[in-house]
Parts: sequence; structure tokens; C-alpha cells
Amino acid sequence: MSAIILNGTETAAGIRREIEREVAELKSAGGAAPGLAVLLIGDDPASSIYVTMKEKACARVGIASFPHRLPGTAKKEELLELIDRLNRDPEVSGILVQLPLPPSLDEREIVSRLDPEKDVDGFHPHNLGRLVRGEALFVPCTPAGIRELLRRYRIPTEGRDAVIVGRSNIVGKPLAVLLAAKNEDGNATVTVCHTRTRDLAAHTRRADILVAAAGVREMIGADMVKPGAAVIDVGIHAVGRRPDGKRILAGDVDFKEVKNAAGAITPVPGGVGPMTIAMLLKNTLTAFKRRRNPGQRQTAG
Ligand code: NAD
Repeated sequence: MSAIILNGTETAAGIRREIEREVAELKSAGGAAPGLAVLLIGDDPASSIYVTMKEKACARVGIASFPHRLPGTAKKEELLELIDRLNRDPEVSGILVQLPLPPSLDEREIVSRLDPEKDVDGFHPHNLGRLVRGEALFVPCTPAGIRELLRRYRIPTEGRDAVIVGRSNIVGKPLAVLLAAKNEDGNATVTVCHTRTRDLAAHTRRADILVAAAGVREMIGADMVKPGAAVIDVGIHAVGRRPDGKRILAGDVDFKEVKNAAGAITPVPGGVGPMTIAMLLKNTLTAFKRRRNPGQRQTAG
């Protein structure tokens, strides 16, 4: 039996249409539009591709984007000054600092300088703390995208065993918080695996929901998956180029094998990636609305 494909491309397109409609309504009602400042420091080719994709996605839904490209030699003070300026700029609803930063810059110091109310990636310590308390202003985009995909495909989480392979601050840890949260999109029993986990397969084989976010190409084989499980592949690996120059991508899951064991599976590309970008747009819209109605302290779940 072949798994249901959790189609992130299609689901993200639906979310973009919802956002586009709302942005158009806001513009016709009041004139102002949400805006996202996108900061890219240095010339990492993958980061450059991601930033371009995010800017194009903004344009498609009517969100303005303000690109800021700085050389890899940029000084900390210069970057902090730019962030201070963007924090004050009323046209900027959200600020995205593309990671990773060049090694000369301290990621924690830079991210901590963002106004938490413009931190649409949700990586500011204030926002990660609020997430743990169940009062998030912004849920980090990749975990939010995974939760949204599970929700829209009606994959139940309550009482299920969720196993996450990877404990990064941007994927594994915040996703563990979301899936364990006491609400209808959570209530799972969550296990977080990492490089020091003993007998990884013994854990993954228990999972009703298995999330692979280790950054190791095709490490999850069919023998590591419980029959019928929902398998979410976060990994992105460029493994070559087609004759037309387009990149060939693979994930952390051996898709060809695992699709015959799983009940549902995300492809790479076309799974978690587009959902991540859709959630960035959603967070930017949320930031804009919150600024217009400062009394309205709604949380993002
Ligand atoms: P990271 O390198 O920061 O973290 C990887 C985690 O996996 C670590 O916590 C580590 O302990 C764990 N790990 C590594 N090897 C392991 C192994 N053999 N067994 C068990 N655990 C292991 O990575 P990240 O930033 O969380 O990203 C993970 C992957 O997801 C990468 O391939 C990245 O490119 C991709 N990614 C995709 C999206 C998207 O939108 N689709 C977003 C973010 C990251």
C-alpha cells in the first residue's frame, strides 16, 4: 500500500490565497499593506535562494518586501543599527534575518536585537519563551507549517506517539512544544531524538507521527517506520542538477522506500518547504494586524 502524499505545495497555495484575500481587503479598507524586511548577510548560495523565494512569495500575496543585502564582512554595529532602524520603521511589519549568519556575527546577539513584535521567525528569546508558555506571538515557521499540514490533512495528534529526530532551536525543540501542548493540535506524547540517542530505530518504530529533522540525507529507511505512520520530512539536501540546471533535492527520509510503509508522507521538494514560507507570510500578516490594533493581544497558539 502506498502512503497518502501530504502535498505541501497545494496546501501552501491555499493558505497563500487566504492571505492574499485578507491583504487585499486590508488595503482597500485602510490603504496600508504589511511589509517584510529581509536581511541577507554574506553570499551563501542556499541562503540567497531561500531569500529570493521568500521575497517572491511576499509579492504574490501583496505583502511588500524590503530587501537588505550586506556583505559577509559587515560589522556587528552596522547590522544592529539597521535592525534598530527597521524596528522603528512603521512600514515594516516583520523583520527576517536569514540564518546562518557569517561566523564573525553572533546569531544570538543579532536575533535578540529584533523587536519581538516584528520577529516573524519567532526565534527571539522572548518569543521562544512565550511559545513554551502557550502564549506565542509568532510560532517559528517550519514547526508552524508542520502543525498546519497535520491539521489540514486531519491527522490526529491527541494521545499519539510523536517522535522528532533533531533538537534544533528552529525545528525540533519548538515542534516538540507544539505537539505536546494542551490543545486540539497537540496532546501528543513527544519523544525528541538526537545524536546521543541510543537505538534511534527503536524510538522511530514506535512513532504514529515521525518527524525527520536531522539534516542527514535519507537516514530514515522503511525499517525505521511503523506501518501506517505519518512521516514528515524536514530535511533538504541538494543532490545534483537536472539537464535544465534545476537542483535535484532529497530529504532525511528515503522517500521511495518509506512511502510503501507509511500511511502518509511529505515529499521533498513540495512538502514542508512551501509550508514554511506560507507560515512566514501568515506571521507577517499577523504582525501587521497586531500593530494596527495594539489592544488586540492575540496569541498564535
Ligand atoms: P541542525 O543541524 O541545527 O540540527 C539537526 C539536529 O539533528 C541536531 O539536534 C542533532 O542532534 C540531530 N541529529 C543529527 N544527526 C543525527 C543522527 N544521525 N541521529 C539523530 N539525531 C541527529 O538542523 P536544522 O536547522 O534543524 O535542520 C534540519 C534539516 O532540516 C536540514 O536538512 C535543513 O536544511 C532542513 N530545514 C528545512 C526547512 C524547511 O523549510 N523545509 C527549514 C529548516 C531546516
